[in-house]
Amino acid sequence: MSLGSSPWDTACVQLADAARHLGLDEGMHDLLRMPRRSVTVSVPLRRDDGQLLVLTGYRVQHNLARGPAKGGIRFHPSTDLDEVKALAMWMTWKCALMGIPYGGAKGGIAVEPKMLSDQERERMTRRYAAELVPLIGPEKDIPAPDVGTDEQTMAWIMDTYSAHTGHTSHGVVTGKPLSVGGSAGRAGATSRGVQLAMFAALRERGLDPADVSVAIQGFGKVGALAAQYLHDAGCRVVAVSDVKGGVYNPRGLNPTALIRHLARGADTVVGFPGTDTLSNSELLELDVDVLVPAALEGVITAENAGRVRARMIVEGANGPVAAEADPILAEKGVVVVPDILANGGGVAVSYFEWVQDLQAYFWTEDQVNERLAELMERAYAQVSRLAAERGLTLRAAAHVIGVGRVAEAHRTRGLYP
Ligand code: GLU
Repeated sequence: MSLGSSPWDTACVQLADAARHLGLDEGMHDLLRMPRRSVTVSVPLRRDDGQLLVLTGYRVQHNLARGPAKGGIRFHPSTDLDEVKALAMWMTWKCALMGIPYGGAKGGIAVEPKMLSDQERERMTRRYAAELVPLIGPEKDIPAPDVGTDEQTMAWIMDTYSAHTGHTSHGVVTGKPLSVGGSAGRAGATSRGVQLAMFAALRERGLDPADVSVAIQGFGKVGALAAQYLHDAGCRVVAVSDVKGGVYNPRGLNPTALIRHLARGADTVVGFPGTDTLSNSELLELDVDVLVPAALEGVITAENAGRVRARMIVEGANGPVAAEADPILAEKGVVVVPDILANGGGVAVSYFEWVQDLQAYFWTEDQVNERLAELMERAYAQVSRLAAERGLTLRAAAHVIGVGRVAEAHRTRGLYP
């Protein structure tokens, strides 16, 4: 874990940096830092064996100046209010940077979902959703999947919300199954966005994606499909990992075979034939061209940043680089394509899903992917141009744009009363 810096500390340092570059006054800086609404709910769950387990859930709406709140829901044992606040703040800047009309939010339950049966997970999700009914809605706050949740979780939330309002409401969550108003292309959107951002950054530096080696930390919803797409596009994916550890083959792994291995019931990539085993910390320090942290926040810290040998880091996860590691990486010349840009493809296609739900008119996967590419390329170009003009890192430039747009929305709307 990080030395001293929590995700919330990191998010606040990044905001302060942007506020300084933008010349924002203290009042505006405070307005942008404070979450607009933070809710903690108790989530009582009847276990299959009859016992009562009382869990704690959260939903933070960080900012609503540019539109309804938007952001995922996480089921993870280390989830707490500070983490959810940080993740909600990053959603605010991400939506602004991607140019989509949302504020930022995040939610979660402090729980290890793998210790629950399917029925227990459903009851827990529905009770949590019921507690959030006054807060969420297609025009108010639109949850989506994050760590430990998936399209089934979103279907249960949609169904619970719809039961409470008395009519089917597709637009209340995104990342739903296709059968209940999901969008073509949503499942792979974050990973496609990671690829688009990475390739834009590589090409700008005269590097051919077909010549690069990549290590990916995390083989979940984002990491596994990123490995697949990058491999399909000609990159050499040499290492991937999950919570149990990682696998390495300097000649390149076959992500399709690894995904199939897990789909057939294996609970880890570790031990996959033809690979060497390595730890998550060894993976982060591999001599590769590109490192994609695609798991949790705070994995690159002041302690290990100096040992990172990748030339480029593309943040599939939210907040994988702690604030104090950023200057160490910059000093070493490591290019960091920041989370709010690199993983913005997920919420971009969430936005497309919501638009389709509200219009009850659905697009083809090609249309979705084409529009995703447009949004990613536009955001990348804006960040890269500002970074070059003002001599900023890509992270600082991305935050200056995201934070600047939210500040502008506040100024334009004015202060009530
Ligand atoms: N959880 C994803 C993220 O962190 C997606 C959020 C969304 O689609 O609303 O960006």
